[in-house]
Amino acid sequence: MGNPRRANGWRRDRQRARIRAQGQACCICGMPIDYTLKAPDPWSFVVDETVPLKHGGTMTYDNQRAAHWWCNRIKSTHSLKWAQAKVRELKAQGKAPTRESEAEPPVRCSDWF
Ligand SMILES: [Zn+2]
Repeated sequence: MGNPRRANGWRRDRQRARIRAQGQACCICGMPIDYTLKAPDPWSFVVDETVPLKHGGTMTYDNQRAAHWWCNRIKSTHSLKWAQAKVRELKAQGKAPTRESEAEPPVRCSDWF
């Protein structure tokens, strides 16, 4: 079988650059993404497969959207709809990580889940 992510690394990089160039907002929480942040900053940019590869999603452009690192972690292999509801719920409960630009304690990894 091989690893489709690794096999398509070059393509993934190109699509990542294309999505980044568009400056899309996060497809999960709808908030803008600071494209200067780097993982593992919770609000950094990652490419999200709308339909996870695990569930038959493809690595094509129409299945890929910009998302925050943290939102993407919440989504994992769940559906986009589930993730949108879950992220909203966590934010409402104050369980989302704080954006560094907004406040001190930077990142509290242990509080995320
Ligand atoms: Zn987000």
